Amino acid sequence: MIDQTKPPIFDGHNDVLTKLLRKGEPHPEHYFIEGDTGHVDLPRSRLGGFSGGFFAVWVSSPVDKAFRYEQMAKPSYDIELPPAIEQGQALKVALSEAASLLRLEQAGALTICRTASQLRQTIEAGQMAAIFHLEGAEAIDPEFAALDVFYAAGLRSLGPVWSRPTIFAHGVPFRYPSDPDTGDGLSAIGKDLIRACNARKIMLDLSHINEKGFWDVAALTDAPLVATHSNAHAICPTARNLTDRQLAAIRESDGMVGLNFAVAFLREDGQMTADTTLDIILRHFDHLIDRLGEDRVGFGSDFDGAIVPQPIGDVTGLPVLRKAMRDHGYGEELMAKLCYGNWLRVLRKTWGE
Ligand code: ZN
Repeated sequence: MIDQTKPPIFDGHNDVLTKLLRKGEPHPEHYFIEGDTGHVDLPRSRLGGFSGGFFAVWVSSPVDKAFRYEQMAKPSYDIELPPAIEQGQALKVALSEAASLLRLEQAGALTICRTASQLRQTIEAGQMAAIFHLEGAEAIDPEFAALDVFYAAGLRSLGPVWSRPTIFAHGVPFRYPSDPDTGDGLSAIGKDLIRACNARKIMLDLSHINEKGFWDVAALTDAPLVATHSNAHAICPTARNLTDRQLAAIRESDGMVGLNFAVAFLREDGQMTADTTLDIILRHFDHLIDRLGEDRVGFGSDFDGAIVPQPIGDVTGLPVLRKAMRDHGYGEELMAKLCYGNWLRVLRKTWGE
């Protein structure tokens, strides 16, 4: 059973699979199993009490990350989105990352959870749980053949769009300050994708979608509204964060939000700098809990996909954050909800089992 003095953290978003793909080697899974650079691997997850989360299958664009981070050090910025990616090209990358996730399961490093009860058992057993998540639906064809094949391989969560446009929807740019109302909503085929995910009980992630797309999904979906890795726009006014109106809709739908550690989405000034204290995380938690209630907030670290506050550093810094949350006055029951219980709740509601 779970030791409630150090509840495991199950988390809404990591980019481990993209990190492994970037090794440029066949079968890079051993890095995760034996120990790796970056934020997350298996040995350090045990040290930090990290029990897994949503593992994103994501297709990168050929953009210079260093250039992006340099822009995001300015007082305001608006970084042009990369162009759309063709489906065949995206599918090749998505298959490779999905295969890595399956191979990690075959090696006994984690369990790809397909039901909420399987997820609960895996977390309670102290093992690493993974949800197969597709971040941006570029790899999905308009006939949804790839959707069905990925579903059979364990896909249970999908974001119709990462920030660059897809045939389904439009995402928000890396823009500060900005509201998330940055363009058109869902396309006709995008609406079909929402229905297709509802029919298969695949969770929809609204973290990167723009505001019009958000409201289009809200009007159409029969599932709780979920943003796996976003923060409060009222504190950090970046296009990637959720306005209080959006938070009210998420609450209304009984959905949830995973708090993102990416410093550019935490800090009031939107700066991508690691020199950031933990207070700002607590302020976002307080705001999200105030707007959503204690049952609808969790973690969505963005580990291995962003710069995180220096006091966290990597997954081994989670005990420091747990302590800061306790010192801030969060009791045992609330800690259990924030750390893993609320993800279990919303996934049971979304997946139905
Ligand atoms: Zn993301």
